[in-house]
Amino acid sequence: MLGAIEAGGTKMVVAVGDEQGNIFKFTQISTTTPKETMPQILDFFKGSDINAIGIGAFGPVCLDEKGSDYGRIGSSPKLEWVGFSWSEAFDGMKIPVAIDTDVNVAALGEVIYGCAQGLSDVIYITIGTGVGVGVYLGGRLVHGMLHPEAGHILLSRAKGDDFEGNCPYHKNCFEGLAAGPAIKMRYGKEAKYLLDDNYVWELEADYIAKALMQYICCYSPKKIILGGGVMNVDKLFPMIREKTLEYMNGYIRAKELEDIENYIVPAGLGGRQGIKGALYLAKTKRTDGSRTG
Ligand code: ZN
Repeated sequence: MLGAIEAGGTKMVVAVGDEQGNIFKFTQISTTTPKETMPQILDFFKGSDINAIGIGAFGPVCLDEKGSDYGRIGSSPKLEWVGFSWSEAFDGMKIPVAIDTDVNVAALGEVIYGCAQGLSDVIYITIGTGVGVGVYLGGRLVHGMLHPEAGHILLSRAKGDDFEGNCPYHKNCFEGLAAGPAIKMRYGKEAKYLLDDNYVWELEADYIAKALMQYICCYSPKKIILGGGVMNVDKLFPMIREKTLEYMNGYIRAKELEDIENYIVPAGLGGRQGIKGALYLAKTKRTDGSRTG
């Protein structure tokens, strides 16, 4: 048995399952403070006989397995969690703990169990309350000096859009222009009340396509998976595909881009990609102690 946690800013999804991605026990716990949230998580796992835990955590989080800060949350806007250590939190259980970012484990879930099986180079993008990008290249999740934060690339503002962007660090980065809160701030109401307004989604697709063009040029992924609350608006997909090809302007020729319908796709696991990826992460830690992928 393996344990998995998808640690988000508003809720923690916790599960017990196996390495085939089967989930036997599952619940959601509100993310408030470590003092309130962690006892509920430990309670959930009690008696489940798990022998490793995989965690997909909101960042920034230290992923250097050799360092003493492995699993420690850095300078997050979620102030109660700054300095909290995922690996120390499970010390008492005496089992291996594997940690990666929420978006990296979602990418892993899709690679192992979902729509990107067998592919070596995949990016997973979530567009919701923020924008995060999980990067899986050459058969490994990418960490680098910390981990990629590709939701914060600067985007040029579209003509006629006078919203300056709401990222507290960069204003007009991808997240600052196109995440759910940016949509709400630009139009004064939430995306769900704007579904029939074509301008809203043309502009949204334009920003997403600008970002994808850059990811294609930098990461050269073989598939791009889009998830998160904003991407529940189905009509975005055809617009994003068309605009991405426009921005590429024929510069890169590859069979993947010629089959754009199967290149830019929704998540294949319908919301379970993160928790399943975390299960698989636990498995890799249990079997050989090495980093995933
Ligand atoms: Zn930013």
